[in-house]
Amino acid sequence: MITRHFAISVTSPGAILRRERDLGTTLGMETEEISKHGGLVSDDIIVHLIEDWLNLHGQDGFVFDGFPRTLNQAQRLDGLLQNRQTSVDLALWLEVSEGTVRDRIASRLQCRRCGFTTSLTSASFADRAICPYCDGPLIRRDDDDASVLETRLAEFKSKTEPLLSYYEKNGALHRIDGNRDRDAVFAEVAGLIEEGAK
Ligand code: AMP
Repeated sequence: MITRHFAISVTSPGAILRRERDLGTTLGMETEEISKHGGLVSDDIIVHLIEDWLNLHGQDGFVFDGFPRTLNQAQRLDGLLQNRQTSVDLALWLEVSEGTVRDRIASRLQCRRCGFTTSLTSASFADRAICPYCDGPLIRRDDDDASVLETRLAEFKSKTEPLLSYYEKNGALHRIDGNRDRDAVFAEVAGLIEEGAK
């Protein structure tokens, strides 16, 4: 939605890794087992992916989805941005209850090609699981599974939650109630991006 509305480049290491896995590359094969079981891939691999992506697409502003996820990644991102005489403007913290997470994961459908995300309960896709943006197949992710979710939640608590205070201290943090519907959440995110652009 951010890319479509603001024409800002967005990337997500999770999406990159899924594409590499589908293409059968060495990186995709090496990281598949970890991701499939809900673990975090090594900081070195993830930071290199982000650095390469920034070199190709990072000229006019960017959004990372699912990065950084560890303190070390956040510190190394700051280093990469310093070299480009820039810094993190906004760290958006989407707060969702565990109940919301479980419900969304249980019914998430994702486009294998472009990453568009919707829900099995959405009437529009009940008969035809095809992406409305790129005609790619809408599929269930293999890590959207109840037992994998427990590992992902544990990883989040131990490794990602400490980023709250990191971004609170540097003033970039904005907490957003992510339990609301997509349009309400997007309206708040859009408002923050517009404010930041002034
Ligand atoms: P996501 O699509 O953001 O849910 O990520 C899917 C999977 O990719 C995660 O469970 C991790 O295995 C891996 N991954 C994505 N982003 C990161 C990151 N910033 N650090 C480490 N692993 C990541």
